Amino acid sequence: MSDTRRRFLGKLSFGFGAAAAAQSLFVADRRAGAAEPSGRKLGFALVGLGKLSGGQLAPALQKTEHCRLTGLVSGSPEKARQWAQQYGVPEKNIYSYDTFDRIKDNPDIDVVYVVLPNSMHAEYTIRAAQAGKHVLCEKPMAVSVKECDEMIAASRAAGRQLAIGYRLHFEPYNLEMVRLAREKVFGGLKIIEATVGFAIGDPSQWRLRKALSGGGSLVDLGIYALQAARCIAGEEPIAVSAQAGLTDPVKFREVEESILFDLKFASGVVASCASSYAAVINRYRAAAERGWFELAPAMNYHGIRGRSSDRDGVKDLQFPDVDQFAAEMDAFADCIQNGRPTTVPGEEGRRDVRIITAIYEAAATGKAVAL
Ligand code: NDP
Repeated sequence: MSDTRRRFLGKLSFGFGAAAAAQSLFVADRRAGAAEPSGRKLGFALVGLGKLSGGQLAPALQKTEHCRLTGLVSGSPEKARQWAQQYGVPEKNIYSYDTFDRIKDNPDIDVVYVVLPNSMHAEYTIRAAQAGKHVLCEKPMAVSVKECDEMIAASRAAGRQLAIGYRLHFEPYNLEMVRLAREKVFGGLKIIEATVGFAIGDPSQWRLRKALSGGGSLVDLGIYALQAARCIAGEEPIAVSAQAGLTDPVKFREVEESILFDLKFASGVVASCASSYAAVINRYRAAAERGWFELAPAMNYHGIRGRSSDRDGVKDLQFPDVDQFAAEMDAFADCIQNGRPTTVPGEEGRRDVRIITAIYEAAATGKAVAL
């Protein structure tokens, strides 16, 4: 670990204490599994060797302090062998989806990181828990609240931890947005806006097939806007209303293209959010009594920028650019090794899936849905 990264992570846990405390508001009934022996790196197996695993997770695992890549699960033996060579993973630690359950006999693997299409998250999380492994599961946690409940139950029954891949909980600009709101630096918070979108390419990809994705831009990108609104507000929404947008009915036959959704919080704070698979936007803004603070881009892997404004003018926020995935995995490993609960547990993923379900209902019926 570089000195810069060590210094930053030290600062993160100290300087962002308020933000961390705020996030723990969302972790009412969390519990930790049994602690693992500390002092050794935890072995991570990646399940699904696609873009996120290849572009971000495998490289991030080379930078982590507490983790190492020790297992590969893939439907493509050739790709898995190639990765094994590249990352020094022994042949015996390569699994297919059929042989996956044998992972239970492999002491090299402590954590299974589920990086599959969304509708496969539940099955592989449950099978990994039943194999006695801790699980880090990518967002969205699953495609229904029932699946989330089954995943949480399986991890509890196994006495293992379940975390969701909410990388922005480990990103300093995003944590600063939470701190500025929680500490009322610009006075009481009133309004949040959060919109995330990109133009999706290949029309044959699984993200556009409902059976694999569970939904469109909302489950993939809108979930970031929802997370931002919930974390910045520091409370749960009590009602949602929504409206879907569609300009390309051929490409978006099965899942929504764009969706606007409004959240109402008990305090009177309101959030106006949107996601799109057809428009390029990436921005959160919070407005308070004496000023506003914003991130744009807000949720990129790198290059996040932030500004705040009050009557003294507009100021840039200045934080280091971190590897969010390395920070996320190190934080999870640290929790496992010290028997502490993760700050991004299955219960947090379930809250988003429950609200997303209500947003779809609101868009379909044209009526506000109480939560
Ligand atoms: P990819 O399509 O690039 O990779 C998914 C992998 O899953 C495939 O490469 C394949 O791996 C495996 N797979 C198994 N069955 C299927 C199937 N029926 N169809 C397609 N793939 C299958 O997706 P991503 O890596 O972009 O996304 C994976 C997960 O990660 C999603 O849940 C997504 O939401 C999440 N994600 C999170 C991000 C974040 O910032 N936190 C960013 C991007 C994605 P193999 O060939 O090895 O079997």
